[in-house]
Amino acid sequence: MEKKQFQAESKRLLEMMINSIYTQKEIFLRELISNSSDAIDKIYYRALTDDSLTFDPENYYIKLSVDKGARTLTLTDTGIGMTREELENNLGVIAKSGSLAFKKDNEAKDGHDIIGQFGVGFYSAFMVADHVSVTSRALGEEQAYKWESDGADGYTIAPAEKAQVGTEIVLTIKGNTEDDSYDEFLEEYRLRSIVKKYSDFIRYPIKMDAKVQVPKEGAENEFEEKIEEEQVNSMVPIWRKNKSELTEADYENFYTEKHYGFDKPLSHLHVNADGAVVYRSILFIPETPPFDFYSREYEKGLELYANGVLIMNKCADLLPDYFSFVKGMVDSESLSLNISREMLQHDRQLKLIAKNIESKIKSQLKSLQKDDREKYDKFFESFGRQLKYGVYSDYGTHKDALQDLLMFYSSTEKKLVTLDEYVSRMPEEQKYIYYAAGASHARIEKLPQTEMVADKGYEILYFTDDIDEFAVKMLLSYKEKEFRSVSAGDLGIEDGEPDKQDEAAGDKELFDYMTERLAGKVSNVRASKRLRSHPVCLSSDGEVSIEMEKILSMMPDNPNVKAEKVLEVNVNHEVFASLKGSLEGDKSKLDLYTDLLYNQALLIEGLPIEDPVEFTNQMCKIMV
Ligand code: ADP
Repeated sequence: MEKKQFQAESKRLLEMMINSIYTQKEIFLRELISNSSDAIDKIYYRALTDDSLTFDPENYYIKLSVDKGARTLTLTDTGIGMTREELENNLGVIAKSGSLAFKKDNEAKDGHDIIGQFGVGFYSAFMVADHVSVTSRALGEEQAYKWESDGADGYTIAPAEKAQVGTEIVLTIKGNTEDDSYDEFLEEYRLRSIVKKYSDFIRYPIKMDAKVQVPKEGAENEFEEKIEEEQVNSMVPIWRKNKSELTEADYENFYTEKHYGFDKPLSHLHVNADGAVVYRSILFIPETPPFDFYSREYEKGLELYANGVLIMNKCADLLPDYFSFVKGMVDSESLSLNISREMLQHDRQLKLIAKNIESKIKSQLKSLQKDDREKYDKFFESFGRQLKYGVYSDYGTHKDALQDLLMFYSSTEKKLVTLDEYVSRMPEEQKYIYYAAGASHARIEKLPQTEMVADKGYEILYFTDDIDEFAVKMLLSYKEKEFRSVSAGDLGIEDGEPDKQDEAAGDKELFDYMTERLAGKVSNVRASKRLRSHPVCLSSDGEVSIEMEKILSMMPDNPNVKAEKVLEVNVNHEVFASLKGSLEGDKSKLDLYTDLLYNQALLIEGLPIEDPVEFTNQMCKIMV
């Protein structure tokens, strides 16, 4: 028979899998069982809407059996099965989820990484087997097909006989090698413990043939061996169990089994609400964002069960957008099984549950912030941006709920701090919460605009996320302290009296001249109250800061909002004396200096200069 080749990506992954140094080979069983369970789910769902189908739980199960002599492990399910095309498309191709495509950038160094991060499902069978056959008969089909493969060199598909709808997978277990033992996967007790460990709460019975000793008929005190079918999994879902019975590892397994993420959860919450609303829920805060988290493709939501039966995979109404990173499930007795999506949206119970969940998540995050800052830092690294979007979105409706969860990098503490920590450290005379926006901590640190505030010993919050300044504009203040950018016109710091100098007749003439020269570029040139060592900087009058202008100009529907820029000049700088000198004398020199200083200020801000060639020509002019 002609061998078909795996698609290139599948082949690579398969090779990695076969040569895997992955220690937890046992997870192949979890993957196969979970596929079988999904396949039974599919029949179950079909039956919900298709009257010609009935779902009698008795008829649906997963079964494991071992033939030590032939070295085979067989897994049978009564799920929906696969057609010939499905066998081809599902088992000949991998990475429908795009996991491998995503991985390509940061090229996995070994199989370990990729298997650890992405559930690769069916292919994991090749970690323990050197030959795999899948015989499947799809629901509604008479003809079955058999898919077979020895691994990376391809697969065959041929018609086959199968009496029942469903799938039978036969793994020919590898022989032991010097380093690895595979015999264990032919031992019933070992298989049983793997099922217990990973798949205990699977909703369908997982059966296994077991040898049992039964009293021999007609003979006293004598026993004979009999093969009996036993159910291995308890089928009790983890959320129905007592918290005290469960270990951290149980929750982690559940997280993996449910494909909530490829990472480990950072924290979990097990809710057993018995008050105004009755529900059970297990919620996870992941450690790292899914690769599509900050994109439009990402879908938030929790699994929703009505009395133990899954009714929706991703119920978006259960989570506010700002907590969209939360994974998990909710099971409630008060929901009806046949409720439609449209009806759910208006369901009063569901709304109450969502409210309740929101406050649970919030207090979980708060206690992480308080008691385990290291974890909270990790969390914030991954999802802080989402919280800031939350503050900004819906015209700031949620700002009160979220402001305490925010953190920003502090100039004095050199780490992320909360607003509460900032405010509690403020010296009495400090009026505002100061912040500076820029591309990176290092860039902000060097901004001339920070000099005055930093000199005063005041803490400055560094804003490096696009959203930061917008979020703070929405907050306006925290604990009655207003936010103030270090580039703002008024810093609320009494210091020196450059105002007076500003008014001095000679200076006014100079600034007017410079303002005229820079007409259309800046709205004003004036003496700076914030500069110490730098000759000039840009600041802005009005609501829109220079950083905001930059961000807005990068938006797809560029609203063309401009900051009202001001060129500030340090009147205590030597350069200022030169400026004054040239006002009296050579005006063309003053023009040159003005242009150069303006361009310098642009560069410091990280803004492009309009005419770089002219700028360098002007530089040369001063040199010669
Ligand atoms: P995943 O389960 O993540 O989609 P797999 O490689 O494990 O990836 O499986 C690929 C697809 O093959 C599944 O999505 C499913 O459509 C199909 N499949 C796998 N095992 C079975 C099975 N036992 N019964 C029916 N379909 C199956």
